[in-house]
Amino acid sequence: MAVTAAPYARRAARRGWWRDGLEAAVYLVAAVGIALFVASGGLLANSPLDWVYAAGRAAGIVAAVLVLTQVTLVSRAPWVERALGHDRAAATHTRLGKVAFIAMLAHVGIITAASASYDERSIFAQTAAFWDLGWFMVAAQAGFGLVTVVVATSLAAVRSRWRYERWHAIHLLMYVAIAAVVPHQFLEGSTFRDGGLAWWFWFLLYAGAIGSFVAYRIVRPLVRSARHGLRVAQVTAHDDGSTSIVVEGADLDRLGARPGQFMLWRFLDRRRWAQAHPYSLSRAPRRDSLRLTVKPSGDHSASLRDLRPGTRVIAEGPLGVFSNVARTAAGSVLVAAGIGITPIRALLEEADGPCDVIVRVRSRDEAPLLDEVEAVAAERGARLHVVTGPRGAGWGTAAGESLADLVPDVVARDVFVCGPVPWADAVVADARAAGVPSGAVHRERFGW
Ligand SMILES: Cc1cc2nc3c(=O)[nH]c(=O)nc-3n(C[C@H](O)[C@H](O)[C@H](O)COP(=O)(O)OP(=O)(O)OC[C@H]3O[C@@H](n4cnc5c(N)ncnc54)[C@H](O)[C@@H]3O)c2cc1C
Repeated sequence: MAVTAAPYARRAARRGWWRDGLEAAVYLVAAVGIALFVASGGLLANSPLDWVYAAGRAAGIVAAVLVLTQVTLVSRAPWVERALGHDRAAATHTRLGKVAFIAMLAHVGIITAASASYDERSIFAQTAAFWDLGWFMVAAQAGFGLVTVVVATSLAAVRSRWRYERWHAIHLLMYVAIAAVVPHQFLEGSTFRDGGLAWWFWFLLYAGAIGSFVAYRIVRPLVRSARHGLRVAQVTAHDDGSTSIVVEGADLDRLGARPGQFMLWRFLDRRRWAQAHPYSLSRAPRRDSLRLTVKPSGDHSASLRDLRPGTRVIAEGPLGVFSNVARTAAGSVLVAAGIGITPIRALLEEADGPCDVIVRVRSRDEAPLLDEVEAVAAERGARLHVVTGPRGAGWGTAAGESLADLVPDVVARDVFVCGPVPWADAVVADARAAGVPSGAVHRERFGW
């Protein structure tokens, strides 16, 4: 049966709708929050200082909406993952974080300065005077201090120098900060204090965002691990240095994992239980097993060679939209380098329509899973191009051929790319230069 682009285009359009809908929902919620604040008499403005004070309160409302949006974006709720994909949701979470912090800073700064001005005190005296309002104001100030620490450690300059685990441990303080800040909104903000519509509006917002987070990040992984009984079944060290791990379990088709997706893997032995790391499925999921293939790049990935069969596993996901779910066209080009071969190898098993696989290697001996890719490409009728060349010699062949040289109709295909960042940048730039629309270029990044 001929493969046509129509179903893929329809699905891409549906994802676009979800994405736009989510964005519109954030604006709508912020607008309703402000409207409820105005309706409750928040804009009582007899003097210019009142206007400033009202602006400070509105900034607090915007900050709260943005923080709740951030929590929802990293909740791994299926509707968020489907619409944005894990990468984009995480990137939007980071971007919103900066705006939320500015709004929070404006809220704290303006309310403190305006209150100090009303009561003719210094800023310091006003900060201390807030404590008289109740414990929730002390908690809110402490929470804001924690937020400042988390934001400072999330700045690219700090983040790039820190190990992921250290950064992540500090980042978790954000949840403590949110818990410390929320009570002042309900107990002091006059919009909420008196109950009624505004109170319910905010209660439902918090319950929705925090509930999604708890449901999809804590409860679901635990329930799934109990239901599927995931355990390491086999650990195979490959000659190129990578290691494949087969994880077995019951009814794994019910996970709904697609080739190309990844999961967050936590191996429950004494050495590794505290860390969860993302690894892609390195072959299409089967009813009774999943497989990942890992290249040693730090403590965790290097240690997986010593995993013992029988070790219990918690796997969060499947995550990401680096899969045929993102397809827009009938044909595809799968491009991989290094350990980026893992999702590409899995995607190849689902290849339909015209498919070219381009694998960039330094030498065949160093290329993970290449023999499997050759076998699956032959089985699926995909054209395989193994492009050999030293590192840094362009993304493709030494002769400098472009994607369009290797795949003349690339413009009418989806291009899936996974590999080291500068190399993948060059492939993406080449695809765009060949005229492939940005929505048809899909990329998986193996970093944070
Ligand atoms: C979506 C995705 C899919 C991936 N798939 C594979 C795969 O199939 N095979 C494979 O070998 N590697 C894969 N990786 C990379 C792998 O997650 C990291 O190499 C691994 O987590 C490194 O941990 P470490 O302790 O060994 O090294 P570290 O020294 O702690 O980290 C090395 C680098 O890995 C990244 N990293 C570390 N921990 C995490 C984390 N929890 N989340 C995100 N990035 C992290 C950071 O960029 C860090 O600089 C994938 C990464 C992502 C984001």
